[in-house]
Amino acid sequence: MNYHVDEKGYYGRFGGAYIPEILHRCVEDLQNTYLKVLESDSFKKEFHGLLRDYVGRPSPLYFAKRLSEKYGCKIFLKREDLNHTGAHKINNTIGQILIARSMGKTRIIAETGAGQHGVATATVCALMNIPCVVYMGKTDVERQQPNVEKMRMLGAAVIPVLSGNMTLKDATNEAIRDWCHHPSDTYYVIGSTVGPHPYPDMVARLQSVISEEIKWQLKEKTGRDYPDYLMACVGGGSNAAGTVYHYLNDERVRILLAEAGGEGLFSGKSAATVHLGKEGIIHGARTLVMQNEDGQIEEPYSISAGLDYPGIGPVHANLSETKRAEVFAVNDNEAIDAVFELTRTEGIIPALESAHVLGVIPKIKFKPDDVVVLTVSGRGDKDMDTYLSFCGE
Ligand SMILES: *Cc1c(COP(=O)(O)O)cnc(C)c1O
Repeated sequence: MNYHVDEKGYYGRFGGAYIPEILHRCVEDLQNTYLKVLESDSFKKEFHGLLRDYVGRPSPLYFAKRLSEKYGCKIFLKREDLNHTGAHKINNTIGQILIARSMGKTRIIAETGAGQHGVATATVCALMNIPCVVYMGKTDVERQQPNVEKMRMLGAAVIPVLSGNMTLKDATNEAIRDWCHHPSDTYYVIGSTVGPHPYPDMVARLQSVISEEIKWQLKEKTGRDYPDYLMACVGGGSNAAGTVYHYLNDERVRILLAEAGGEGLFSGKSAATVHLGKEGIIHGARTLVMQNEDGQIEEPYSISAGLDYPGIGPVHANLSETKRAEVFAVNDNEAIDAVFELTRTEGIIPALESAHVLGVIPKIKFKPDDVVVLTVSGRGDKDMDTYLSFCGE
């Protein structure tokens, strides 16, 4: 079984490139270019140089002693929260903007929900002196002010989107519309392992630096280069794809993923796409989609703005269908409990997204010798208002 993308851009029956006619040329150019660029020496040198000196990689693999004692196993945290801009997203934006530059593109556009991908994109555009336009639903613009201010300070134009529910899915539609109008000079930086082929594979490869590091760091710390369990949260799936990339075809490693259960699977307020979704097409890919009986997309809900996407990366749809990965729906309250637990046992305040995978730990019966690697995708600074509202309880 091969869990990586096939030549046509599919993971099993998921993936592909379902795009409007006007974008065929752009997407085909990218399909024909991305592997050549990724494998070129000049790209590798610049990408890894920036990851080291600008992002601060390698991110530590930290043995969480007190958490391990509590759950009776050996838990290592992959600290993507320590990256510049506070999460794993910067690995991807640096890579894609280098690719855009090598294709001669002179303008960058992006969509953002919580604003994390927007900030990471605006950051790298400032660094590389490229104009940047970020589409963001008006609802998100209002509830994510600090990130909007950061993007503007970095020099990006943030455009509030007024269609639909005015959230991530609407911002994505608007970014695609912009790309259709400017196909020759504009590069669209997608923030996760979603969208038409080659985006899911390209983003997974750029994030695969996470598992590349886990391999040698684990070898150094435990004497063997693979864990018994790999754990990550899934919104669109990029930090998870990076965490599992080099272990996908290694069946000794069990993969546990967390999606956002919201207020509960059957509450009508959830973002658990694997549990609730049906096969469909969203933003250019065939995957699992939260939709009603008429095929209308259902608005997802999660306490975490980074996990409330109504689709999921095709790689993860396939991992779940083939049972290579086990996917847990973790509810808002379980995630909040996990935030306070990590904060008080290890002195690390995680992002709300990352807290969802921490919330899986109590659901598993580990053995004392089990080696567990869990990716902390980001830090909790952006979620402090939410956390403080639970502090009095
Ligand atoms: C955006 C984000 C996520 C979700 O995105 P993926 O592509 O699924 O990784 C998770 N954690 C943090 C901290 C994020 O900013």
